Amino acid sequence: MPLLLRHPSSLEHDTGPGHPERADRIRAIDAELESGGMLGWEVQEAPAASEEQLLRVHPAAYVERVREMSARSAPFDLDTPTSPGSYEAALRAAGGACALVDALLQGGERTGFSVLRPPGHHSEWERAMGFCLFSTVAIAARHALDGLGAERVLVLDWDVHHGNGTNTIFHESPEVLFASIHQYPFWPGTGALGDVGSGAGEGYSFNLPVPAGTGEAAFLSLVEHVVAPAARRYRPDLILISAGFDAHRDDPLGGLVLDTESYGKLARQVRSLGEELGAPVGAVLEGGYDLQALAESVAATMSGLAGDEPAPQAVTVDPLAEAALEVLGRYWDS
Ligand SMILES: [Zn+2]
Repeated sequence: MPLLLRHPSSLEHDTGPGHPERADRIRAIDAELESGGMLGWEVQEAPAASEEQLLRVHPAAYVERVREMSARSAPFDLDTPTSPGSYEAALRAAGGACALVDALLQGGERTGFSVLRPPGHHSEWERAMGFCLFSTVAIAARHALDGLGAERVLVLDWDVHHGNGTNTIFHESPEVLFASIHQYPFWPGTGALGDVGSGAGEGYSFNLPVPAGTGEAAFLSLVEHVVAPAARRYRPDLILISAGFDAHRDDPLGGLVLDTESYGKLARQVRSLGEELGAPVGAVLEGGYDLQALAESVAATMSGLAGDEPAPQAVTVDPLAEAALEVLGRYWDS
């Protein structure tokens, strides 16, 4: 049975009045899923990340800083406030993603979703930013690699913002193939197509920027024509999705125009790729700030990950995919 990781501490990370990354996001998702009988998924309480799991990515002094700043509700920056509940929430968000990886690589599960907050993909080794405290997906990927013996992890980040934290953390590593589809130019400013990674990781960062107004056809083509062919050569042991839902057309922060069902289609593409490669697929919640679009898109993603509908085909190669292949084809013949 697919696994859904949650924890009440997600409601105790208080970002203050008017902040888009708020506890109501989790309440909206809960209401949507509970009305649908949790879609038949097994709900599990997220454990706190262990010190060992956190320290594979973040220095001990940074972890302590998050704890200490949270205790006194000190903000890291204007976007990234904390409250006394923030440290525990961030620990559970990272721990839930690691528990999901345990279930996928050791428990025989094929898919699952860690639906906790705060999000993580903007957090760098020792820098909180963009609503993110710990780099949750990076911690989960390192747990798979260092804790469970995986050799290669594919991370697909479909949040509207570039996943600068995950990208930076694995920039020089071929152990993670990081693929991000994001609005560009846009906050945080990183993620240009020409940034392909560095050192031993050169060619393992797929930054796939798309202009404002981009919709489903380009996303499906980028996955089918750019990410999937590389994944077939890369043969990941695990696929993680940094699942933000702020590329939805109703999102107040993003400028892209995905529909709710676009996320179902993307999830089916990734599920189908995972089945083909024998790699389980886990999703981890990132952004998404229109409550209804967020809740319905999470449900559409879960249905796509767990269902048996065939993957949609992107019939034509989008010009954005052609441009990406020109750059990345130097590293991956396709
Ligand atoms: Zn985002």
